[in-house]
Amino acid sequence: MANEEAFLRKLFQDFYQKHEIEGPPETETREFGYGIFGRKIVNRNFAFRDKKALNFFLRQSVPFFVSYSSALYRFPSRRPMEAKELLSADLVYEFDADDFHGLKCGRKHDFWKCPKCGKEGRGSQEVCDECMTPLKVEQWFCTDCLDGAKEKVFALLEFLEDDFGFSEGIAINFSGRAGYHVHVRSEAVRSLSHSARIELIDYLTANGLNIFSHFKKEATFFSCPPQKEKVGWPQRILFELVSLLEEGDVEKISIMGDISLTEAKRLVRERKQILSSINERRTIPSIFGRVSSKGESKSDKFWQSFLGGIVTKIAPIDRQTSIDINKIVRLPETLHGETGFISKDLSRDELKEFNPFDDALAFSMDETVKVFINKAPRFYLAGREFGPFENLETELPLAAAVFLLARGAASLR
Ligand SMILES: [Zn+2]
Ligand SMILES: [Zn+2]
Repeated sequence: MANEEAFLRKLFQDFYQKHEIEGPPETETREFGYGIFGRKIVNRNFAFRDKKALNFFLRQSVPFFVSYSSALYRFPSRRPMEAKELLSADLVYEFDADDFHGLKCGRKHDFWKCPKCGKEGRGSQEVCDECMTPLKVEQWFCTDCLDGAKEKVFALLEFLEDDFGFSEGIAINFSGRAGYHVHVRSEAVRSLSHSARIELIDYLTANGLNIFSHFKKEATFFSCPPQKEKVGWPQRILFELVSLLEEGDVEKISIMGDISLTEAKRLVRERKQILSSINERRTIPSIFGRVSSKGESKSDKFWQSFLGGIVTKIAPIDRQTSIDINKIVRLPETLHGETGFISKDLSRDELKEFNPFDDALAFSMDETVKVFINKAPRFYLAGREFGPFENLETELPLAAAVFLLARGAASLR
């Protein structure tokens, strides 16, 4: 691989020679880290006194990955952590397409080969279905899975603005591979304590939300949250409930409500009455018989499951979201060493139209390189489709070659 590493390093060096990286706000208070070919972080506890020093480092050392701290420190390069003296910290939310890999998408571009028996398959799974050996799945990503991550970004922005009034100091960037990062840097956020940060996560994940305190049970119906509340979880749930009923997707309703397709069909048939009951009387009929005071009737179970499914669907982040104040994340506008893509800074409007496979390319589509491709699914880049490839020598545009070489799916010829 030495050849490939040197080849990529030369390209990355050219890129950093030609581009000046802006660096994060208050560069001098940030801790930096970097990675080499095949390893995202090999070294951290670096600091740069300004933008010039940062760019000098990029041109001289040519890292394959560059990360910086969401925290601001008095002495960012000191070790251990406590010696850095924390000043404050941005909030950072990471959205990775890996988490929104729908089965459909994954079956299109992910694959595995069992190291023991040699069986091959598509999609993601943990063990070989022939011999139960643990598998390492080759995960790829496409515009569809990235759009899943994008939807969550917009959902988060809505929560931040509507529920918390955070509209200042929000920055968005592409991660350089398969996701997006949202940074909140307003003063109000930076001074939040650890417990306030946990509370924020609790709210965004609806942890501890008691749905039936907002959709109260009566004998033959559930009441809806009052109309005067314009924002917040109850209104969001209600809004989504109405959209799902209007959409009337039987399969979706049966899965989310954990009922049979026949029952879901019945519900869809009766949705007109349900919708007018919601709109006119602000009540949801119990549908499957009376509501039990013990909360065990079929209607109780259905609404519990259905409303719970709505919460999961519209929650902008999941419980796994890190609140590690000391973490380091991709530095915007630098290259990602596994794709050769630029981790583009994006305004909200730019994000709407953004497709990394068109808009994050750092290298030429006109120049070509001869490569040997081990295996790659069909992928899209700059208006063209490539692959699928398997054990094939071919000539590719530079950007496409880098995309494969960087992740080790191809070698130079
Ligand atoms: Zn096997
Ligand atoms: Zn996909």
